Amino acid sequence: MRVLIRYGDDTAHCDVQESASVPSKIRIHVYPDGSVEIEAPPGKSADEIQRAVQKRARWVFSHLKAATAARALSLPREYVSGEAHFYLGRRYKLIVSSAPTAQSSVKLARGRLEVAVYSRDPAVVRRRLKQWYLDRAESYLAGRLSHWAAILPFLKAEPPLKLTSMSTQWGSCSPQGAIHLNPALVKAPRHCIDYVIVHEACHLVEHNHSRRFYDLLNRHMPGWRAAKTELDGLAEMLLVE
Ligand SMILES: [Zn+2]
Repeated sequence: MRVLIRYGDDTAHCDVQESASVPSKIRIHVYPDGSVEIEAPPGKSADEIQRAVQKRARWVFSHLKAATAARALSLPREYVSGEAHFYLGRRYKLIVSSAPTAQSSVKLARGRLEVAVYSRDPAVVRRRLKQWYLDRAESYLAGRLSHWAAILPFLKAEPPLKLTSMSTQWGSCSPQGAIHLNPALVKAPRHCIDYVIVHEACHLVEHNHSRRFYDLLNRHMPGWRAAKTELDGLAEMLLVE
């Protein structure tokens, strides 16, 4: 069964599933792909369901709008002015302008990420920005690793840092004791960056996700779970190029 709901000029088709586990109320789910699913107790008519869902149209469409915005942020970037890009957890509006090669620059100012390059060709903008993120990652991530190396008592020396682009991972550590971080991590909020660094640092002494590993992580970063959940939610958006 499908029902149609309206809100202003917007309409949405909703798939209805009969579900015996739903005691009496109708449940509505809005999924990240923009689909809407309704769980209704058996025996409700299409009319009854339609009326019940229509009453929550405002809620449905506000969630649909949020899902559309989140999807747009997870699409590959086009490297044109107006687009959203991230740095240390903040969202910046990309502004592309022309400049002679020798004066190419990237600047953060008042919510804007200003890129001046010799050509507005997206490939040129993308390359320049990628280099900028890499430079920022090198200095910011190294600074945080030094900070934690001085605090974490189980690290005898500061581990070497290697920046390694990974498509699905934020960090790892090598058997030789180096910490590898994804340069895209510099797009994440500061506390999420710290979480990844401490997580990998703990792996230098506890290689698996064992009980001892989590004891160590809990001791040195009690709030890590919230940071991990936040970072997981941002991953799709921050890992896309
Ligand atoms: Zn791990």
